[in-house]
Amino acid sequence: MSLNTFSLEGKVALVTGANTGLGQGLAVGLAAAGADIVAAGRSVPSDTEAAVKALGRKFAFVPADFTRPSIAGDVAAKAEAAFGPVNILVNNAGTIKRNDALDFTEADWDEVMDVNLKSVFFLTQAVARSMVSSGEGGKIINIASMLSFQGGIRVASYTSSKSGIAGLTKLLANEWAKHGINVNAIAPGYFATNNTDALRADEKRNSEILGRIPAGRWGQPSDLAGAAVFLASRASDYVHGTVLAVDGGWLAR
Ligand code: NAP
Repeated sequence: MSLNTFSLEGKVALVTGANTGLGQGLAVGLAAAGADIVAAGRSVPSDTEAAVKALGRKFAFVPADFTRPSIAGDVAAKAEAAFGPVNILVNNAGTIKRNDALDFTEADWDEVMDVNLKSVFFLTQAVARSMVSSGEGGKIINIASMLSFQGGIRVASYTSSKSGIAGLTKLLANEWAKHGINVNAIAPGYFATNNTDALRADEKRNSEILGRIPAGRWGQPSDLAGAAVFLASRASDYVHGTVLAVDGGWLAR
């Protein structure tokens, strides 16, 4: 097998939530492998745009607030208008709310489910319709979590959404493999981003978490690039419905 199998040259990747954290690492990693990037999200991704362009790749931004899942079709259409058909979709945008289950509010339930699960489904549906009608197929990568496997604590809607992502990844893989669409997920372990600020600021939780990670450190966004390029490329053409942990060994403990 040639290393060209991993090349994303000539491909267009739509990455949600690419202004910061894991989404930024994913967008830059895909661009380094040759993809042009369309970022969809709430905040203007200026740093990501600069990093992608510095790699010689094209970059476009589609504003999108995924607390409103009804925007999904419009986001997919605007992404396609930027550089042509989307070949790779990375569903990364996500949010988290922390509270005891006894006190958890409906608003915190709905916001997390809308952003992390409902918008993911309808954006993926819109992009996949185009992949199917063009006959070109494509690659869909959902960002799952350790809480796609474990229960966690004080994050009822987040665990529900990310466990839902694991199931949805498998369902979509089953339905769309015949169309040449690979649907897989990456489950990041504990990564240093805004999403985990509260955990890292809590000395006790920070040392408990670090003590459980065989690699002995928090993940960095660039640690996801290898898995993302693999799942976005021809190298993974026979990989369907997997949830690939990139976790420094967390789940192995
Ligand atoms: P982050 O730094 O907080 O980034 C989250 C991204 O999602 C940001 O781009 C954010 O945009 C976007 N987003 C949130 N709500 C949105 C909305 N309503 N509409 C549009 N975009 C929205 O966190 P991260 O750690 O990189 O998280 C990225 C993904 O990885 C999430 O799905 C998260 O659940 C998952 N994950 C993270 C970890 C970890 O350890 N960090 C572990 C497992 C899974 P704004 O900047 O505008 O808010």
